[in-house]
Amino acid sequence: MNDSLVPRQSSPNLSSTGAPAAERYDFFGVVQGYLREAAALVEMPAETLAILSQPKQEIIIHFPVRLDDGTVSMFKGYRIQHNNILGPYKGGLRYHAAVTLDDCKALASMMTWKCALMNLPLGGGKGGIKFDPRKFSQNELERITRRFIHALGSNIGPWHDIPAPDVGTNAQTMAWAMDTYVNTVGYLAHTSAKGVVTGKPLASGGTLGRPKATGQGLVHCIRYWAEEKGFALEGATVAIQGYGNVGSYSAALLSKLGVSMIAVGDHGGYLHSPEGFNPHKLHEHVRKNGSVLGYPSGEPITREQFFRIKCDIFVPAALENQIGVAEARALDTKLVAEGANGPCSPDGERILLERGIDILPDVLANSGGVTVSYYEWVQNNRSESWTLEEVDERLEVAMKRAYRKTMEMARQKNTTARIGAYCVALQLLMTVYAERQIWP
Ligand code: GLU
Repeated sequence: MNDSLVPRQSSPNLSSTGAPAAERYDFFGVVQGYLREAAALVEMPAETLAILSQPKQEIIIHFPVRLDDGTVSMFKGYRIQHNNILGPYKGGLRYHAAVTLDDCKALASMMTWKCALMNLPLGGGKGGIKFDPRKFSQNELERITRRFIHALGSNIGPWHDIPAPDVGTNAQTMAWAMDTYVNTVGYLAHTSAKGVVTGKPLASGGTLGRPKATGQGLVHCIRYWAEEKGFALEGATVAIQGYGNVGSYSAALLSKLGVSMIAVGDHGGYLHSPEGFNPHKLHEHVRKNGSVLGYPSGEPITREQFFRIKCDIFVPAALENQIGVAEARALDTKLVAEGANGPCSPDGERILLERGIDILPDVLANSGGVTVSYYEWVQNNRSESWTLEEVDERLEVAMKRAYRKTMEMARQKNTTARIGAYCVALQLLMTVYAERQIWP
């Protein structure tokens, strides 16, 4: 295990900050480790554990795309379909230079746990394309997306596998994906298959409340934690790593509760401002410039300084494996609320817990996104449009239930919140396997 504060990446030679990673992080192995630990606690039958230990399908597609300069470039896309016993595969599409098959397997299996924990009639999937979307024009991104969705063909579908945004993709990506699917899978689907992807723009079949959903769910969890601890959020401070969808909405929603963001960073660099940043202005800057780099207020700091800043709440909202041993020793905070998937390594988590720092685990804390994706899918299937109040109310009820179940389970099994969340998810999955058995 690397013990220094160098940026960690899941690929041996690719880094969003340009620094080489010391070693390959076995993300899928880590998630399988959590699965085995929780499976033992809920006494899951060995055969169910064997089924859940591997994805049902692993799709890899190489496809050509013509770039703006007339040349043709090959791209590598993945779609992992981990489990569909509870419903259609569900999960994001990631565009990032470090996307690998194993990372998609880890992320797809986490979607299975997330949907089960949230009691959604959905399974787990994840996909992505291994490239850096920042280096391509909008026209190129559109052609890459359309070509990949076309190549996936009937491997996705509103009753089979439903992609959504993830790192490097957004509502526009989903509009292109939906449009490609409905235009290529047959006449009947043209008007009835908008639910093939979620996270779409509102006018193209999206739902109110989806853009902020992951941040909103995370902030609900932070509120429940604060209530439980008797901790006053008014006047508290937060540091946020990653200022994309999850980071920026978390900052804006926390600021409404009186929490000020005093440090922030992304692939471009890190900034510190003891008085606090304006989350909206910073979001505007990132939208125009692609990163927090160059934002006029705040003092530039190193990644190492960022992880040492004293704050009440730390929100990792970037990539996996960002809080290893060194970061966990450095963090001066009360709570790590995981907006990203897999931001703490197992060693990092152990150190945080030993130091008395609480963790709101990813499968719980960032599950607001897929929960509101489910609301979008239901609205698409019923040709309905819900009000923002309706979406917000349902999300809050769903988050409260999952938070309560996770913490009760963790207490009952005398384990961490992460393994508690896994146990809740696994109990549902093993009940369904026990009832349905395997076919034939
Ligand atoms: N990519 C998000 C996640 O990791 C959202 C998935 C979805 O909405 O299907 O949970």
